[in-house]
Amino acid sequence: MRPSIRVPGCYVRDPMSSDNRNPIGDMPDGAYARQLAQGFPWLTFEPALEADFRRRYLQENLRYLRFSMALGFLMLVAFSVMESTMLGPGATHIPNLVHFLLVAPVMLAMFCATFTEPGRRRFAVLMTISSAIVGLGIVATQIVASHAGISILFPGLILATIYLYLLTGLTFYHALAVNVIVFVAYLMAASGAALAPSEFAYNSLSLFAANAICASVVYMHEKAARTRFLEGQQLRDMAARDGLTGIPNRRMFDQHIHRTWQLAVSERQRVAVFLVDIDCFKDYNDRYGHQAGDECLRAVAVTLSQCARRPLDVVARYGGEEFAVVLYQASRDYVAEVLTRIQRSVAELNIPHEASRVATRLTVSIGAAYVLPGANRTAEGLIQLADEALYAAKEQGRNRVVVMEAEYQNLQTGRFERRRNSGRA
Ligand code: GH3
Ligand code: MG
Ligand code: MG
Repeated sequence: MRPSIRVPGCYVRDPMSSDNRNPIGDMPDGAYARQLAQGFPWLTFEPALEADFRRRYLQENLRYLRFSMALGFLMLVAFSVMESTMLGPGATHIPNLVHFLLVAPVMLAMFCATFTEPGRRRFAVLMTISSAIVGLGIVATQIVASHAGISILFPGLILATIYLYLLTGLTFYHALAVNVIVFVAYLMAASGAALAPSEFAYNSLSLFAANAICASVVYMHEKAARTRFLEGQQLRDMAARDGLTGIPNRRMFDQHIHRTWQLAVSERQRVAVFLVDIDCFKDYNDRYGHQAGDECLRAVAVTLSQCARRPLDVVARYGGEEFAVVLYQASRDYVAEVLTRIQRSVAELNIPHEASRVATRLTVSIGAAYVLPGANRTAEGLIQLADEALYAAKEQGRNRVVVMEAEYQNLQTGRFERRRNSGRA
């Protein structure tokens, strides 16, 4: 029977999470999943997610928002014209002045602001202020009209409330704050206006009911939007991770290396790719079992992730017992430092491997390619070079690093040689 082992030092943490709270055995547990599990009854995420959500929420709704702003503007014009026609221009002179000199310009300015980057960045603040101005402007027209003995304009305030909740793109708390201000302003101003007490009470109750209904709708809508956001991001997160180790998977690596390559070509920066292959891993599985092999892969994955932690460094599972490391804008010293760190930390894992033909502990072979990308070359060439280097490391006896740099000049990219796994085994 195979001895059952636990890999030493194997409190594997989630390498993609900033706070590393994920013990071994859990599925990779990113910030989105955590927030979903915690819930968000107060419609607020942790700060980084909150900023991300707001940015995406605005991005998703921007076209719809511009449309509804244009609609609001047209409604304002239509109501003003109709009121003038019904009541005569004299009676609606001041309300129209408020509409066209205050409310309409603020709406237009906000509409234009959505086309500028600073406007979009400060959208929540600008929209909250301009919505409050619009709402208070409408309240002012109500009060002026009621002083003139006109009381049929009140539905306009209900419509404005609905508009300010549902069509401004404001999130729940901002929309609530705006409408509470408008509601209180109406109560204060209307209580001093020439309204019959019963009419004042009825209007106040109607406005309160409109607030309650719209606030509930906005709350539910935002709750659903936030849930959708977290689930969508979590799915994206899971699709980018390797299920066993929790580090970026091959798909993510492929995307990253191509983006990195393009960036490196345009910025004329050096890129390094390491292929890190566990030595005699088949023998490890045969000796200790596949489950122990899996634990070992997790431990190595986490260790590697901790060796390259600059923002554009990526450590991914390349396939099987092979990992890939990409270093962008890497100096020769940094490449050497990361290589040393990898070898040292794998050694520090101190995982027994009695079946190894190279050592008594688990070891890795590393093929490293370090190049200054040329415009006529591709990322595939870089990976092929790292593969050649890994093959050389295996040929030379394993448990070592081979760096290829000058060989890049002679490598014919785009022409793929067969992977030489059989040669390495
Ligand atoms: P070399 O030193 O030449 O790299 O030899 P090797 O045995 O490591 O390489 P080989 O390609 O012959 O075998 C790779 C082994 O990795 C075989 C396969 O069972 C094992 N392996 C691949 N993926 C997994 C995995 O997800 N879990 C486990 N436990 N083993 C895996
Ligand atoms: Mg191997
Ligand atoms: Mg291999």
